Amino acid sequence: MTDAAGPVTDAILVAGGKGTRMGGQNKVYRLLAGQPVISRSAAAFLCHPGIRRVVAVVAADDAEAARAILPSEVTIATGGASRAASVRAGLAALSDAPPDRVLIHDAARPLIDRETIARVSEALDTHDGAAPAVAVTDALWRSETDRIEGAVPRDGLYRAQTPQGFRYEAIAAAHAGWDAPGDPADDVTVALAAGLDVVMVPGEERNLKLTLAADMRRAEDLLGKGTPMDIRMGNGYDVHRFGPGDAVILCGIRIPHGRGLSGHSDADVGMHALTDAILGALAEGDIGRHFPPSDPQWKGADSEIFLTRAADIASGRGFRLSNADVTLICEEPKIGPHAAAMSARLAAILGTTPDRISVKATTSERLGFTGRGEGIAAIATATLVSETP
Ligand code: MG
Repeated sequence: MTDAAGPVTDAILVAGGKGTRMGGQNKVYRLLAGQPVISRSAAAFLCHPGIRRVVAVVAADDAEAARAILPSEVTIATGGASRAASVRAGLAALSDAPPDRVLIHDAARPLIDRETIARVSEALDTHDGAAPAVAVTDALWRSETDRIEGAVPRDGLYRAQTPQGFRYEAIAAAHAGWDAPGDPADDVTVALAAGLDVVMVPGEERNLKLTLAADMRRAEDLLGKGTPMDIRMGNGYDVHRFGPGDAVILCGIRIPHGRGLSGHSDADVGMHALTDAILGALAEGDIGRHFPPSDPQWKGADSEIFLTRAADIASGRGFRLSNADVTLICEEPKIGPHAAAMSARLAAILGTTPDRISVKATTSERLGFTGRGEGIAAIATATLVSETP
C-alpha cells in the first residue's frame, strides 16, 4: 500500500539466470530454511508498505515453477538472455501502469531487510537513483594464479548490493539508450552511463547474494540467528475399556474386532492421546476442557473433531506440528497391518506428511489391564514449532 500523496513505487525481482555456479539449478528455486529463495525475496517487497506491485522476471523455462511458488499478487515476466535484458522485460511489464519509482532487486538476495528498502526509497526523494553498498574491510589482493601479486588499495571501494532504486522513466530511458559494448554489470552502471545522479546508502552485511553453495549455508545461519525458534513438546495418555461391538476405531482407522471400545465419543484412544499431546504442548489443558464429556453434543463424536480443534489452536498461536509419535498398548487387535494407514490418516487431519507422524504399538506381555484385554491404552508425544519473525 502506498500513501495516496506519496510517489508510487514498484519492485522488479531479477531471476532470469541459470545459476550455473550452483550446479546448473537456478538457486532462487532452492529451499532456504524451508522456503524457496525467490519466495523470501518476493515476500520482503510484498510486505513492505511502500511497495505497490512486484514483478518477478524469470527464465522462460522456469515460468511455470515460479508461478507455482510465488503468491498470485506477483506478476511474472519472462526474461532475456542477459541480466540487463531481464531488467528491461521487468520495466516493460510495469509500463501499463508505470510507477514513479522502481526498485530493482536480485532475487538471489533473499535476506533483504525493510530498513534497506526504506533507505533506498527515501534517497529517491532527492536523487535519480540510489543503491545500498557496504565498505570493503578485508584487504584486497590481485592474483591471476595462486600467487599473490600484490595488494590493491581498498580505500573508497564498496561492495554493491540491491535493490537499486530509480525514477522509473529515467531508468527505462537509460536502459533503452544503453549502447556500450557488452552487458552492464548492474542497473547503476546503466544509470551512470546515462548521466543519472546515483547516491549510495548503507547496505547490510546480511543482504548477501547467493552465488556459491556455501552462501546457502551462510544465509541459513543468518536466518537462524535472526529468527528465534520456539519449540514446544507435549505428551498425552488415554485409556478406553472394551465393551460390546464389532470394531474398534484407532487413529481414525476402523478395525473389525470381536469387541468395541466404550466411551463417550467414538473412543479413539490413539487420537485422544495425540490431541492431548498437542494441547499439552500449548499448555491448553486437555481434551475434556475443550470438549466436556458432560456435553451431549460430543456423544459418539468422530474424534477427528477433537484433533482438528487442537491443530487449529496450534496454528492460531503460530505453531506448526513438527512431528508426533503415538504408541498403542494392547494385545489385540494387531496394529502393525494398519499402522501406515493410521499415520496417513492422522497426517491428513493435521495437514502434514506421514513421515512426521509415527504410529506404533506394543503389548504389555499380558500384564495389567491391557495385558488382560480389558482395554486399550495409548501414549503420544507431539513437538510444535513456531518461528517468530
Ligand atoms: Mg479418551
